[in-house]
Amino acid sequence: MAEAVHCFIGLGSNLDNPTDQVIQALKELQDLPDSTLLSCSSLYRSDPMGPQDQPDYINAVAMLDTLLSPVALLDQLQALEQIHQRKRLQHWGPRTLDLDLLLYGNQLISCERLTVPHPGLTERNFVLWPLAEIAPDLKFPDGSLIQTYLDQQPLGTLQRLP
Ligand code: ATP
Ligand code: CA
Ligand code: CA
Repeated sequence: MAEAVHCFIGLGSNLDNPTDQVIQALKELQDLPDSTLLSCSSLYRSDPMGPQDQPDYINAVAMLDTLLSPVALLDQLQALEQIHQRKRLQHWGPRTLDLDLLLYGNQLISCERLTVPHPGLTERNFVLWPLAEIAPDLKFPDGSLIQTYLDQQPLGTLQRLP
């Protein structure tokens, strides 16, 4: 039998009760087939990236073990975005739910639908800080340490919510 792979998922929402959207999505991640939700970060409030005329975001990161292939996992994540009525109207525009596959074990994936590690991972404080909260000793596939990137992407206006 295949071995489960350790994955990290980035969650984000800034429409229709973003906190509820993220909490509900975390519950839905618990029910993904052939997968086990291992832990999730606190919720964080972040300023919007890209277009500034949109509400603040609520972000979190979840860690799971999965037997799903990377593309099968992406299918599941996109199905959840659809359940949350995600509409793609504008690049980096407002959304009810965004689920990004940040890391899939130590694999490097580059295909039409998927780039892993997620290209924004090391440049976005709203991804790095929740990720470091649940995996402070994390090493990226290239061997670099998450702590190195935290120094480069300080907390700034990002707020960890109680
Ligand atoms: P960003 O990827 O910069 O965070 P975004 O999340 O707003 O932007 P989306 O509109 O949600 O982008 O996704 C666009 C496409 O990105 C998806 O259709 C998906 O196929 C592709 N994609 C590539 N790599 C990943 C990944 N690691 N996780 C999720 N989607 C990915
Ligand atoms: Ca995203
Ligand atoms: Ca996305």
